[in-house]
Amino acid sequence: MPAKSTGTAPALSTGNGAAARETAFFCRKRMLLPIFPGPRPRAGPASTAPAARPILDKKFEPTCVFSERARQLTSSAIREILKVTEQPDVISFAGGLPSPDGFPVDVVRQAYDRVLATSARTALQYGPTEGYAPLRAWVADSLNRRGASVTPEEVLIVSGSQQGLDLLGKVLIDPGSKVLVETPSYLGALQSFSLYQPQFVSVPGDDGGLVPESLTPELAGGGRFLYALPNFQNPTGRTLARPRREALVAAAARLGLPVIEDDPYGDLRYAGRAEPGLLALAGECGANVIHLGSFSKVLAPGLRLGYICASRPIIHKLVQAKQATDLHTATLTQMAVHEIVKDGFLDGHLPRVRELYRQQCGFMLDALQRAFPAGTRWTRPEGGMFVWVELPPHVDSAELLQRAVREKVAFVPGAPFYAGAPAHNTLRLSFVTVPEEKIRHGIATLGRLIADTPA
Ligand code: PMP
Repeated sequence: MPAKSTGTAPALSTGNGAAARETAFFCRKRMLLPIFPGPRPRAGPASTAPAARPILDKKFEPTCVFSERARQLTSSAIREILKVTEQPDVISFAGGLPSPDGFPVDVVRQAYDRVLATSARTALQYGPTEGYAPLRAWVADSLNRRGASVTPEEVLIVSGSQQGLDLLGKVLIDPGSKVLVETPSYLGALQSFSLYQPQFVSVPGDDGGLVPESLTPELAGGGRFLYALPNFQNPTGRTLARPRREALVAAAARLGLPVIEDDPYGDLRYAGRAEPGLLALAGECGANVIHLGSFSKVLAPGLRLGYICASRPIIHKLVQAKQATDLHTATLTQMAVHEIVKDGFLDGHLPRVRELYRQQCGFMLDALQRAFPAGTRWTRPEGGMFVWVELPPHVDSAELLQRAVREKVAFVPGAPFYAGAPAHNTLRLSFVTVPEEKIRHGIATLGRLIADTPA
């Protein structure tokens, strides 16, 4: 039934009209305050008394009726921790930032210069929502070189793969939809999907990552999609071995379950053997794999550039959603990045980034080996930026963080990475931005605090 409009305020919504009207009225009342802060001054001789402190000094912070969706939003645990760790004297293993030592600053500057010198009017103009055609072709080509079979029309350029996650949530999730995620999973994806109010189902995992045998019809049947991170997973650093990848896509094909393969770290392998992506394996068994990639870890995250590769009907729907979101990703950035990658720059650049990350990972594993007490376990990543630690069962990592921050060391407790029941004795360590000496010192501090935790 449509809400009736009253004289005091317009009806704002049908479901919660009364509350909306009340708040709108309240807002208008408060908005009057700065204009009429008190009784109007009477006409007469000028007063010599000090002026009353005007109410205008107060920060005026109007509010609104937030949507049900917005009311459920919470800040990312990582962002909150990052605020605490902004001081330069804190050793932070918390943020998932790529190492700035790997940013090809001069190459980026030259690429922007070249684009502006040769194609400024195109670069500064609106562009197609799907993305800059030569960049879409480059992405398709680079995926095909790794065994996929995709066309440029199956690629959508997005403003960071995080936008890809949001768009996928937008077009695939209804309130209550079943969405399958790993245990644990990428916090940023859980946040993105949560906006669309799914019912999360945690797929069991072990030291080798997601266990494909657990994708039974009972657990996964009717799921809108499975969200999977097969390479150097955020947060655990785990990598899915080939037999599991094959079993996963086969199970997904049997169940008619689309798989979102989120792969921002795949190019950052510094140990072990490269495994084929889920997208490359999908063709053999007819699985529906939607692949997400990013330039954040191979070039720089400040560019905010990523891509989604999916079948044309899915891309078509995503394009409609993206159009409503931001029309398109920055043309200038797309053209500059294409200028950088088109002649094989990454072939020379990535080995340097991998070597940097391999070294950093070595410092971390070495420090853990020296300093962490018996009863702790950690992963040994073959790529990427994260180590996942399991503490003895009596150590709660959120409580440990409080003590660690007092000693100027930070990390991310494991609990927020779980869609279901969390393991409170887990934590994530990010190692690529911390110098060797600080890794040793920070890990020694954590080791001591863990050992000192009363049982
Ligand atoms: N997926 C995963 C697993 C990530 O770790 C990140 C970044 N932390 C993203 C997606 C988003 O990356 P971006 O938006 O920078 O491409």
